[in-house]
Amino acid sequence: AANADNADLKALIRTIPDFPKPGIQFRDVTTLLLDRCGFSSCVGRMAAAAPGPVDLVAGVEARGFLFAGALADRLNAGVLLIRKDGKLPGATIAEDYALEYGQDRIAMHADACAPDARVLLVDDLIATGGTARAAVRLLRKAGARVVQAQFLVDLPELGGADALRKDGVDVHALVAFE
Ligand code: AMP
Repeated sequence: AANADNADLKALIRTIPDFPKPGIQFRDVTTLLLDRCGFSSCVGRMAAAAPGPVDLVAGVEARGFLFAGALADRLNAGVLLIRKDGKLPGATIAEDYALEYGQDRIAMHADACAPDARVLLVDDLIATGGTARAAVRLLRKAGARVVQAQFLVDLPELGGADALRKDGVDVHALVAFE
């Protein structure tokens, strides 16, 4: 769960009202990424919360890649890319998920992880959980063990983290915005 000790990180995240549309409070992590101490301490805290050894850190396009790369380096793990469908060059497996209007599809290379690989999923933010839950289904379809899902930001009112826990995933976020 989000922790008051992470108030320093929360202060580095900028809120842009009404982006990308009216009524959405966009939690902009680019301001935290710009801060060398903030980014380093964010990744350090994510690494400290990891549940023992992991083989791969899976990042979700696009901001998830930044945390996945840095975190994998700290955890001595590889990086697995989960991308929008159509971007990866090799044979892929894909998973659909619902958006507010319509649906979207994410994909990973079919041979990216060994059976039972211990995978830590990371993204900048969890809102409804639609993206992360699809990523977990995709990783499980590939035979991975999703040992944890981590997010810099949780929006608990949207219920994504709870839904992911009901899917049997250990969920950890550094900060929450009500
Ligand atoms: P969801 O699938 O609803 O959990 O949405 C998660 C994805 O959408 C993440 O990759 C976020 O980067 C992005 N996202 C959703 N809501 C917000 C928000 N209020 N502020 C910033 N990013 C958001």
